[in-house]
Amino acid sequence: MAKQLLSKIPAINKILLLGKTKELINSYSEVAVKSAIKNYIDSIKQDILNEELKEVPTLEEILDEVTKIVEQEDKNSLRRIINATGTILHTNLGRSLLSQKIKENIESVAFNYSNLEFDIENKKRGSRYVHLTDIIKKLTGAEDVLVVNNNAAAVLLTLNTLVKDKEIVVSRGELVEIGGAFRIPEIIKLSGGVPIEVGTTNKTHLKDYENAINEQTGALLKVHTSNYKILGFTKDVSNEEISYLARENNLVSINDLGSGQFLDFSKYGLPYEPTVKEVLDSGIDVVTFSGDKLLGGPQAGVIVGKKEYIEKMKKNQLTRTLRVDKMTLAALEATLKLYLDEKEALEHIPTLHMISLSKERLFGKADVLKRKLIDLDFDIKIEDDKAEVGGGSYPASYLESVVVKLTHSTLSSTEVERRLLEVDIPIITRIKDNSIILDMRTLRTREFDIVKAALEEVTK
Ligand SMILES: *Cc1c(COP(=O)(O)O)cnc(C)c1O
Repeated sequence: MAKQLLSKIPAINKILLLGKTKELINSYSEVAVKSAIKNYIDSIKQDILNEELKEVPTLEEILDEVTKIVEQEDKNSLRRIINATGTILHTNLGRSLLSQKIKENIESVAFNYSNLEFDIENKKRGSRYVHLTDIIKKLTGAEDVLVVNNNAAAVLLTLNTLVKDKEIVVSRGELVEIGGAFRIPEIIKLSGGVPIEVGTTNKTHLKDYENAINEQTGALLKVHTSNYKILGFTKDVSNEEISYLARENNLVSINDLGSGQFLDFSKYGLPYEPTVKEVLDSGIDVVTFSGDKLLGGPQAGVIVGKKEYIEKMKKNQLTRTLRVDKMTLAALEATLKLYLDEKEALEHIPTLHMISLSKERLFGKADVLKRKLIDLDFDIKIEDDKAEVGGGSYPASYLESVVVKLTHSTLSSTEVERRLLEVDIPIITRIKDNSIILDMRTLRTREFDIVKAALEEVTK
């Protein structure tokens, strides 16, 4: 029976000769179409052998399926999505969006030769690490700067250069695990350092650090507890105290800020957090932070601090393996320049814009979207809700937000949510009270038409 069926499967060569196949090859490519035909035919054979298929599909059915496969495989694996969740820095969704204002800077470096490692003035080999030094010094008051691939790399390089084979004293309450299993104690070990935990989970005192210092000690490390918060009976030691104690004992003081910010967001309803400049002003020797968290730039790790330490890092072989790309440098430099004017930064850096949007503006956006969707088969409400910064910043703190709440007349919200992930530009939503939630903090006005089209498509 199976044998008979197998013999009825059309030969690949025969399928290739069909007019429709040729059209498909013209629109896509021979490699893509051949591979789709072969894979589909193989799957038919397998299904017949497993007795899951009792009849061979017609040529027409085969071509329909092949077309679907080719179309699906033609989509890039990494592609655009729309974030309607209200979580601004969503690590799974690419963290910060770059500012439209810096498009030209990236383009000009990406599509042309550049002075990446060329010193134009002196007509000789230069360093890629000089390009950001001036602007970061200006914004943070740092003596020197080094930019690497990401903040995890920044921490590793800092520790490996300054305190390899030495003890690194860190509060037990700050031994964090960041998403993707980046664990501070593991990074310390990987750098060649020896982690020495002090204090307890909820309380660490200056004397705990003092008591841990001996001849083997190399650094006092503070780590931002990015993704959790210890509430209640707590105590940690200030940057001032840490840096003073380090200086008294000839040790390096390091603060892994994680997110790292240049502006104070407390006026937007978030708790106060020191800026990078304030941490350096408190006397800390080396500060590390991410480029794509609260800074709102590309993925990068920024190391700022004392010149003698940063010079050493530049000479470490490890720097080469953690090297930052030219497009990242171009994007970061242009993003940082926007910070020279705070208003400009808040308006044009998407991460900052989303954080600083007022309730009125959020309502305004919701109202525009509601009007746009009014003819669709949804019950539409505008409601107050809570959004969050995310990405390991401001744990357990929320931003007030405004959402558009959709309930379909017949489809369940989980079904609509699922279908919204299958459209051309997938839309990531939340579900609350059995309704689809579109949060106005992260959904951008320019995306409203795409959302409308998608909602139409998934409910037709
Ligand atoms: C996010 C974070 C990191 C890792 O930064 P990446 O830029 O993601 O590599 C390291 N330390 C802390 C405290 C963080 O919050």
